[in-house]
Amino acid sequence: MTGLFKLALTLVILANTNNLDYTTDTQPIINVSTSEKVLFLTIDDGNDPDPRLIDFLLNSKIRGTAFINGNIIDKNIEWIKALSAADWDIAGHSYNHKALTTMSETELKIDTIYTSTAIFLATGQFNFFLRPPYGIYNSTTSAILAGQGYKIINFERQNSTADFIDSIKLETKWSRIDNFLEKAQGGEIILAHFGAKDSYQTVKYTVEQALAQGFRFEKISNYIKK
Ligand SMILES: [Zn+2]
Repeated sequence: MTGLFKLALTLVILANTNNLDYTTDTQPIINVSTSEKVLFLTIDDGNDPDPRLIDFLLNSKIRGTAFINGNIIDKNIEWIKALSAADWDIAGHSYNHKALTTMSETELKIDTIYTSTAIFLATGQFNFFLRPPYGIYNSTTSAILAGQGYKIINFERQNSTADFIDSIKLETKWSRIDNFLEKAQGGEIILAHFGAKDSYQTVKYTVEQALAQGFRFEKISNYIKK
């Protein structure tokens, strides 16, 4: 995005300030209501992805939802376009990975429109999903985002692959994934990261074990509509 384009978007936001509506349902989505044996892999961030992870995702022919920072999308990265072409949702995760709760209303609106515009320009996709950095939100951020038509997609902590927790040994991560899959009913949203230390291993293990148990992997936009 050029500086001039960003300025134009900022002016649009500043010209459209509405009163916040706290009455609409702004609860984040932490699982998908379905009776199908389907799981929703969500992968966050986008800086320094493990190339083995990208190859695995593209070769395994699963679908999922990538929550990527706008500044990374703006770098015109080929693997993001490849995931989009492989029928993944590409959704926002703030522009610079700044906690949404630290932003003013105007700053948050500008941040989300920059991110969505970057995604649209890079992939042609527009969806209304957003994952807050660190999973952090509050009633004000939720109301602002709901007012703009966004839905917050979060996760249950136990559904994380724990790829980003360096202090946990890989074997422990696998047993954690086994326990999660044993209890999974379908509709669970799984959290992983593109660039964490064990992302490739934990995502590959999760996907292979789940497929062997008869689960499918889908993108969120096929199940949650506006
Ligand atoms: Zn993140």
